[in-house]
Amino acid sequence: MKKIHTDIKIYGIVQGVGFRPFVHRQVSVLGLSGFVRNTSYGAEISVEGDEPAAESFLKSLETDAPKLSFIEAVKVEKSDSLRGYTGFEIRTSERGRARRTLISPDVAICPDCLAELSDPRDRRYEYPFINCTNCGPRFTITRDIPYDRKNTTMAPFPMCEACASEYENIEDRRYHAQPDCCPICGPRLQFFGEDGTELPGEAISLTKEYIKQGKTVAVKGLGGIHLACRCDSAEAVRRLRERKRRDEKPFAIMCRDVFEARRYADISADEERLLTSHQRPIVLLRKKEKGSLSYISENSYVGIMLPYTPVHYLLLSGEIKSLVMTSANISDLPIIYKDSDALKLLSGVADAFLLNNREIHVRCDDSLMYVYGGREYFLRRSRGYVPYPVCTETELLPILACGAEQKASFAITRDSHIFPSQHIGDLKNLETLENYEANILHFENIFDIKLKFIVCDMHPDYMSTEYATERARLMGVPLFRAQHHHAHMCSCMADNGCAEKCIGIVWDGTGYGADGKIWGAEMLVGDFSGFSRKGTILPIRLPGGDRTTKEPFRVAASLLDSAGLACDERIKAHLDSGINCPEATSMGRLFDGVSALLGIVTHASYEGQGAVLLEAAAQEDVLREYPYSAEKQDGIYVFDWREMICAIERDKENGASRGEIAAAFMNTLISFAAFAAKRISEETGIKTVALSGGSFQNMYVLKRLEKRLSEEELCVLIHRRVSCNDEGISLGQVMIAQAKAEAHSLEGRD
Ligand code: ZN
Ligand code: ZN
Ligand code: FE
Repeated sequence: MKKIHTDIKIYGIVQGVGFRPFVHRQVSVLGLSGFVRNTSYGAEISVEGDEPAAESFLKSLETDAPKLSFIEAVKVEKSDSLRGYTGFEIRTSERGRARRTLISPDVAICPDCLAELSDPRDRRYEYPFINCTNCGPRFTITRDIPYDRKNTTMAPFPMCEACASEYENIEDRRYHAQPDCCPICGPRLQFFGEDGTELPGEAISLTKEYIKQGKTVAVKGLGGIHLACRCDSAEAVRRLRERKRRDEKPFAIMCRDVFEARRYADISADEERLLTSHQRPIVLLRKKEKGSLSYISENSYVGIMLPYTPVHYLLLSGEIKSLVMTSANISDLPIIYKDSDALKLLSGVADAFLLNNREIHVRCDDSLMYVYGGREYFLRRSRGYVPYPVCTETELLPILACGAEQKASFAITRDSHIFPSQHIGDLKNLETLENYEANILHFENIFDIKLKFIVCDMHPDYMSTEYATERARLMGVPLFRAQHHHAHMCSCMADNGCAEKCIGIVWDGTGYGADGKIWGAEMLVGDFSGFSRKGTILPIRLPGGDRTTKEPFRVAASLLDSAGLACDERIKAHLDSGINCPEATSMGRLFDGVSALLGIVTHASYEGQGAVLLEAAAQEDVLREYPYSAEKQDGIYVFDWREMICAIERDKENGASRGEIAAAFMNTLISFAAFAAKRISEETGIKTVALSGGSFQNMYVLKRLEKRLSEEELCVLIHRRVSCNDEGISLGQVMIAQAKAEAHSLEGRD
C-alpha cells in the first residue's frame, strides 16, 4: 500500500483541552507515525503511513476532536517524500511565541468527574475541586500565559505524586490538566460564620444546614461569589432582597437538573440543550404558570441555570433541589470575587460564607440569554463564552474598542479574531471602572496585543470615552469615534459575517446622535465605513432628563402633553418652562412612557423595568394596531406617535385591558418598522435588515418584527454571538475603526 507524508496545521483552541492525547490515540489505532506539538497558532502534526489511514485521521479531526477544542481551520499538505519516523512522539512546544495561543473559557464539571465525585471508592470522592482536561476553571484562574499551572491561581498547590503521574500520562484523562488536584494536594473549602470567623466542621453540611434554615450563604463559584438561599421560601428571598437592596429585579435560580427545572418552567429541546451545555448559562425560560415565583421574578420568565462546579453539585444533593443564586454585590457594583472582600462587604448581607483558598483571578459573571431560533440570544455574554473570539474573514489591525457605558464591555483584536470581553457593568461606579481598566490590560497581556488604534463612542461624557481619550494620548495612537447606533448596527452585521450595505433598525434607550442630540429609535442605511439616517421617531421631551429613567410617570405626562391631552400639572409647568427638558428619539423612553400610562410601572426600581413588564403584560393573540403617521421629513421617515397616544387613552376609557393595549402598542411599532424598512429597501435596493439595540431584548417585538420583515422578502440579521444591548457595541466599534484605519492609511497620513 502507498505510504504518504502529511503535514497538518490546526488553528484554534486546542491546548489544555485534551487535544494531543486525542491525536495520540488516533494515530496509535491507525498505525501512523510522526509527532504533534503545540504552536503559536494551535498545533502542528506530522504523520506518515498508509494513505487510507492518513485520510481517516484527517476525518477524525473533523468528527471526533475533543468537545472543548475550538478548531477554526485545518491546513493540510501531503507529499510522497517520507521522513521515516519511528513511532509517534509528543514534542515540546515551539518556544518564544507561546503568547499567541488562545485560552479556553471555564467549563462546567464533566460527566466523568461527576461520576468520580459521587463514587465512594474514588480518591476524589466528594472532593469539591475535582476537574480534568475536559472540565474545570480556565479563564478565571489564568494570571498570565502560557497556560501552565505556574501562571494560574493553582500555583500555590504543588501536585502530589498521584496527581503528577496522571498529569504525565498521555493515556490519562488528566494528562496536562493544569488545575488537576486532589484532597491531598489541592485547595480546600472554608466555612465562615457571619462575623468572619472560620467555623469547624464539614463545610458543605454546614452550608446546607444554614440554607435549610432559610439563611443566606455567600458561595464562591468560578468567576465570582453568589448569594444563595432556598428558593421555596418567599420569606428567605424577601430578606435577601432587602439586604441586597434589590427591590424588584429578578433573581436567577439554580436547579439540580432539568427534571427539577421543569417544575418551574416550560423547557423546549433547544433550551434543554443550552441549559445542559458545558457553558451552563442562565437561560430565561417561560414560567410554567404565569404569576408563579413572583417573589423571584415579577415577569413571565424565570432565569434558571444548572450546577456547574463540584461545589454546586454537592450543595444540591440531598434535600435541597434548587437555590436562588444571585451575584454577590451591593446594588449595581461589580460581583465580589475575593474572599477578603466577601467577608468585609457582605457582612450583614450573608449569614455565612462558603469560600476556598483557590483565588479567582478574573471576575466573570454568569452568562444570561434567551434561546431564540434554536440558539443563544445573549443578554449578557460572560462565563463559559469568554474569551472565545468572534472570527472574521478579514485580517484586522490591533484595535481596542472601548464600548459604551452602562452595559460596558470592550473588545480587542488580533489577526482575524475579535475578543469581546466579559460583562463589566456600569462604568459610573468607580469599582466597575477599575475592573474595566484592569481587564483591558489583562486582555492585552494574555493575547499579546500591541494596540495601534483605539475607538470609543461619540458620547463626550461616557467614562469609556474618557478612558479611550487618555489611553490614546498616552500611547500616541489614533482615536476614532463611532456613532452609537451605527456601532449597534455594525455589531449585528459583524455578528452575522455580513459586510454588505444594510438597513439597520436600531432601537434602544439612548445614544449620542451624529447631530449631538439624543437618539434611540433609528433606522440607518450603511456599512462599516459610514451611514445615513433614514428613519426615526418624533422626539420625546424628557422633563427632568436622566431622572425619567427612574420616574417613567414623567415620560407619560410628556407624551400626553405632546398629544394635546391633559397631564399632571406640575410636569406640564416643567415642560412649559423648557428647563432640563432634553428631547430624545428614544424607543426605551417610549416604552417607559406607555408602560406608565397603563399604570404598569410609574416608578422604576431598575433600568428597563417598564419595558420588561409591558412585554410581560401583553396579550399574545391581539392583532390590532393603532393609527400613526410616518411621513418623510428631510429624507427621514418619522414615526409620529401622537395619534397612537390619543388612541391608547380612548382605549383605556373604553375599558380595554392592559394586555390588549400593550400588545396593540407594540404591534404599531412593528408596523411602522416594517413599513419604513420596505420603503427604504425599495428606494435603495438593499434587501438586508439588521436588528440591534437593547429594545430587541423584547421577545414579543423581535419575533413579530422578524416575521413581518421576512414576509416582505427582506433578509433579517439578528444577534447570534454578542448581546443586542450596549454590551455588544464594542464589536461594531471594531469594524468601524478597521474601516476608518484603512481609509486613514490609504490617505497616506500614516
Ligand atoms: Zn472532568
Ligand atoms: Zn493530588
Ligand atoms: Fe445602545
